[in-house]
Amino acid sequence: MLISLSDLGTSIINLMGNSDEISETQEAKVYCDKSVMILLPEWKGILGRSLSGPRAISDFTGLKEREITEVCKRYPALINPYYLSLVKEKNDPIYKQCIPSKEELSDDFGQEDPLHEDPEHQKRLGVPSLVTHRYPDRILFRVSNQCAMYCRFCTRKRKVGDVNKQPTWKEILQALDYIRAHEEIRDVLLSGGDPLMLNDVLLEKIIKEVHFILRNRKNSIIRIGTRMPCVLPQRITPELCAMFKRYHPLYINTHFNHPNEITPESRRACEMLADHGIPVGSQSVLLKGVNDDPEVMKELMQGLVSMRVRPYYIYQADPVKGTNHFRTRVEKGQEIYRAIRGHTSGLCVPTYVIDAPDGGGKVPAIPSYIQEITYEKVVMRNFEGNLHEYPQIK
Ligand code: SF4
Repeated sequence: MLISLSDLGTSIINLMGNSDEISETQEAKVYCDKSVMILLPEWKGILGRSLSGPRAISDFTGLKEREITEVCKRYPALINPYYLSLVKEKNDPIYKQCIPSKEELSDDFGQEDPLHEDPEHQKRLGVPSLVTHRYPDRILFRVSNQCAMYCRFCTRKRKVGDVNKQPTWKEILQALDYIRAHEEIRDVLLSGGDPLMLNDVLLEKIIKEVHFILRNRKNSIIRIGTRMPCVLPQRITPELCAMFKRYHPLYINTHFNHPNEITPESRRACEMLADHGIPVGSQSVLLKGVNDDPEVMKELMQGLVSMRVRPYYIYQADPVKGTNHFRTRVEKGQEIYRAIRGHTSGLCVPTYVIDAPDGGGKVPAIPSYIQEITYEKVVMRNFEGNLHEYPQIK
């Protein structure tokens, strides 16, 4: 039995009731074993009602249970009821992002880890398992491999949702030791999975330690990569924002892919972060059948800016095994960029990038507006297609 008390910002789960209604997330299982009444934050209550088993997904979608079982054996699924409520019809842009598809198993093109984030690909010696240290001054620190919704196109599809790959506290301590020992690191990006799947106490413990280590390093910052403002905005609470505020400069990098993800709830979450002085940026992944349309992308970028979120990247989809059906050609990304640049405010224009395979890093893939550069002049084409000349200094 599950009772939602959203007006109080909490939920109560009676775990002695029907255990079928309990989610399969790790935390809910722990609570289930205790067989007691537990007061949970609202977001955990919502998460506890997620669809994750093949039967529940089959009942919702009408897809064959056997097919979903096969997909989920390899790539876990979890769709929380908030995100699911954004699905308006079968195969719409929200549905495609969250519902498992048999194409994930037939798509053999690409690599499991195209960005070479895993330890075997690290060029530096002694990098701990939770850290990717590619650029000189910054690292990626994966503190969780759980998410509030498993995006079917995820670049880390190979590991998210796998209960055997959840970071241990020992691994987290090794990562902290690494940051401590490497004075050149001044920018730590907490990532996952989704770091906001950790509870506030554990999350603060990690952030506090990173903040302490970085305190005397010039221009140090902490960034948190999270899809929560989009997929489970109830996770953004006044308490969480107040905690973040204690560790400035702290940035949130979030991830929206479609205007239908901009709702009163996501707006409230993003504005709450902004009200606490936390700069929020968003990345979007260019996905076939989801947002490969200039008008859709423009509306998304304008919607983000209207809730004080700065769009900063459109990513070309990575060649990840199991996600090829989401990929578009690069020309589509350039067409979208051209349709946004100049046609709306510069604040709404993110950089279009390709994350170069084999760990090459992000490379801008924006179309060139410059037609010719000579000693005398630069010839360029503006957003309307007209040619203009800029005189060079001699
Ligand atoms: S929230 Fe991010 S890490 Fe989690 S499944 Fe989606 S894209 Fe992957």
